Amino acid sequence: MVWLRRDLRLSDLPPLAAAASGTDSSVLVCFVVDPRLEKSSGERRLAFLFDSLRELDDKLDGKLLVVRGRPEVEIPKLARNVDADCVHISEDFAPFGRRRDESVADELGDIALEATGSPYLVSPGRVTKDDGEPYKVFTPYYKRWRDHGWREPADSSVSLKRILDPSDVTKSGRIEIPAAPVELDLPAGEDAATSRWAEFIDADLADYDSGRNDPAGDSTSRMSAYLKYGNIHPRTLAADLSRSAARGSKGAQAFLRELAFRDFYADVLYHWPHSLWHNWNRQFDDIDLDTDKKAYERFDAWKAGRTGFPLVDAGMRQLAETGYMHNRVRMLTASFLVKDLHLPWWWGAEWFLEQLIDGDMASNNHGWQWAAGTGTDAAPYFRVFNPETQAKKFDPDGEYVRRWVGDVDADDYPEPMVDHKAEREEALRRFGQI
Ligand code: FAD
Repeated sequence: MVWLRRDLRLSDLPPLAAAASGTDSSVLVCFVVDPRLEKSSGERRLAFLFDSLRELDDKLDGKLLVVRGRPEVEIPKLARNVDADCVHISEDFAPFGRRRDESVADELGDIALEATGSPYLVSPGRVTKDDGEPYKVFTPYYKRWRDHGWREPADSSVSLKRILDPSDVTKSGRIEIPAAPVELDLPAGEDAATSRWAEFIDADLADYDSGRNDPAGDSTSRMSAYLKYGNIHPRTLAADLSRSAARGSKGAQAFLRELAFRDFYADVLYHWPHSLWHNWNRQFDDIDLDTDKKAYERFDAWKAGRTGFPLVDAGMRQLAETGYMHNRVRMLTASFLVKDLHLPWWWGAEWFLEQLIDGDMASNNHGWQWAAGTGTDAAPYFRVFNPETQAKKFDPDGEYVRRWVGDVDADDYPEPMVDHKAEREEALRRFGQI
């Protein structure tokens, strides 16, 4: 039996290959809709999830079994129903997933819960310093990570005849895959991931090194949501990077480095699970933050993209309208919330997670901590992004701002809600206190 979670694809899927090898019995492929995750995932992420499941079900000729409930109840029930000798998964390293999998393993008793692979190029915990300690700084991690290396994509092609038809399984509790609660402008699923990736390699990979800093250019890969849901594995991306015409180029190198960032943040979360919602660096716990009524009003203006700083507002409006924001602008809007408005980073992180299609606990919350200066090798606290300088540098023609905000000289566009220079001083004063 294969229990899918964040690996919603059929190719390069080690748990499926493992389930099908060494036996000629059939394989049940299932997904459990966990009401706890349904409640905490924003509507866009649910839409992306359900659309991915629908595609997978089509590819499996309608044989994907979807049930709703607590995995520690549903998985053992299904495993016993089909007389499975093993439940195959790819390993989850985030705190919630680890706790969930431990209780599923307990409830499975004699039936093994077997992890083959993970959603990462190098699984959390594998890259360590010589003394076995985890890395706290990205650059040396990255060097070790590259030396560690990874496998080639797995061959997981399995004849459809081998997939068990769940309608043959009595009392399975099968549900219809829910309808997507909202429409997305990013198509979900394995085929969409593969074709977007091919497009990116052809058009933008070679210049990714510089193109990735241009918010108006739409020239980044848009792989984040596909990676989040496992519509494609980073191993497939890495293999294609080294085969593409742009292999070895600055663009290909820069792209691999970003994939390493994704692994690094998953590794940080694995070693320091408290860093999900608390400062990784506890020295910042005593910083003076604003949380009064006025703070909530400022938070609302930030969320609505009405701060009066055009590049900040453009990012916040792109996020609210599409569930995506360019990385450059994620850094700026996050810095603005923390250092110009003096609000807790976790307020912003929560809002991002609610809105983003690619919302991922490790990348998001550590991206936020980077901006707040409280993370592993964070931006130093005294680095305060200047929204106007950032706009001049990264949106010099104002194209991105025009696209998401329109005319910033219009009467209904707000005045800057704060004086950046004064708030920068204020941020430094507060950091100075601790
Ligand atoms: P590309 O530039 O094409 O990058 C390729 C891939 O590399 C991405 O898909 C992603 O998987 C990975 N990657 C790139 N940059 C980073 C990074 N800084 N950290 C970790 N992985 C990275 N990324 C998410 O996937 N989910 C999030 O919830 C998320 N929240 C963020 C919050 C903040 C405050 C910041 C500063 C960054 C956040 N990022 C997050 C990282 C980054 O912004 C997105 O991965 C990227 O914008 C997605 O677009 P893309 O796929 O076109 O990126």
